[in-house]
Amino acid sequence: MTTYHISTVGCQMNKADSERLASGFEQLGLSESDDLRTADVVVLNTCVVRQSAEDTATGVLGVLKKCKEADPKRRIAVMGCMVGPKTDELSRRFPQVDAWARPQQFGPILEMAGEVVGIDPDGCVQELLPADPKVATFIPIIHGCDKFCSFCIIPYRRGREVSRPLDQLVRETEMLVSRGVREVTLLGQNVDSYGHDLDPATDLADLLYAVNEVDGLERIRFLTSHPSDMSEKIIRAVGELPKVCENINLPFQAGDDAVLARMRRGYTRSEYLNKIEQVRSIIPNVALVTDVIVGFSGETEAQFAQTLDILREVRFDKVHSAAYSVRPGTIAARQHPDTVPVEEKKRRLAELNVLQEQICAEINAGLDGEEFGVLIDGHSKGKLQGRTRTDKLVHIDRSEAFETRIGGFANVRIIETSPWSLRGEVTAAEMPAAGDRLRVYSA
Ligand code: SF4
Repeated sequence: MTTYHISTVGCQMNKADSERLASGFEQLGLSESDDLRTADVVVLNTCVVRQSAEDTATGVLGVLKKCKEADPKRRIAVMGCMVGPKTDELSRRFPQVDAWARPQQFGPILEMAGEVVGIDPDGCVQELLPADPKVATFIPIIHGCDKFCSFCIIPYRRGREVSRPLDQLVRETEMLVSRGVREVTLLGQNVDSYGHDLDPATDLADLLYAVNEVDGLERIRFLTSHPSDMSEKIIRAVGELPKVCENINLPFQAGDDAVLARMRRGYTRSEYLNKIEQVRSIIPNVALVTDVIVGFSGETEAQFAQTLDILREVRFDKVHSAAYSVRPGTIAARQHPDTVPVEEKKRRLAELNVLQEQICAEINAGLDGEEFGVLIDGHSKGKLQGRTRTDKLVHIDRSEAFETRIGGFANVRIIETSPWSLRGEVTAAEMPAAGDRLRVYSA
């Protein structure tokens, strides 16, 4: 049996791509292998947001070079953000690689795998959708980004924005639901920009209304948003549509206007805070998530304090924080010297994380005794786990009285809280339907 192995790093977009590529391999008759060193077809799905991620991919390619020398029949492909529009230089550096593919360009890799098994993928490989998807799964809706934030390499690697047609996305959602999916997360580097390039132009709100109509689907999420592109129409759609979860990821990156301008983010501090106010006025129970970078070029202590102030003012449910590191090839790498010492960046990051941990602890403590609907999507350390509509991670005590399972919904009363998760007990749960093909909990 010909085997494949896909190694994935990076964001949910990459994970969704890997799931789709795996579906193509399965349709060609390949079977999955855990072992990168022995699989017949190996794919590295790469991330280059940070230089360290690219260095890791380079290291793995060194390991694969030795594997290929031992067995020249082995095929190696690299996809994802490491692959730009031109691959001449990459091919020269890594002659062990047989196929290069940009994100979502599955064709060259499927052709390579097809040659190994002697099958032409054309006509043989149908829709690239996971055959056995997770109950909460990802759907990429727009690829690339037109924003060119000064610190970010994504637009150079993933290219300009290209939206997928709305009817194709609805059909894909229907197929995923027929395979057991109950929650979808619509993905894009800038998901709020969806549809402007389609003919006729459409937008994320239109897509949310259309996906909300899919029978059997219970929840819809979307990420990542950009404050300049999140329109009132989109916010109102989230507020109105019953399946769209009241959970928004809106990165602000820095709290000071001069830093925001150097980052080329396209909004000011007050514009960002006005957007948050608008979101909260239309979606009262919304849970807010954000991304922040500390120690960007030239950031002073006073400017960093402005970032902390936004955390205190908004009180986000979750913050993804990072210390700035220069990404070669970006505008910032060319124009803005990396002036903040590493130790100072680490100190600022630690200070920010301590503050946010305290805020998360306080927000979650307020949920003690509350009851939530939880979609159970996995288990860990003998406990089921799932998420509320507001994306809170809940560990669930086993229940004698109610049958709970992965893929099912349960009402859960919160009995313990921490900054990062909740613990709860089941007060009601769905009974499995006859012929239900969702996976049963068996830990
Ligand atoms: S919006 Fe900015 S940070 Fe996000 S992917 Fe686009 S360029 Fe990068």
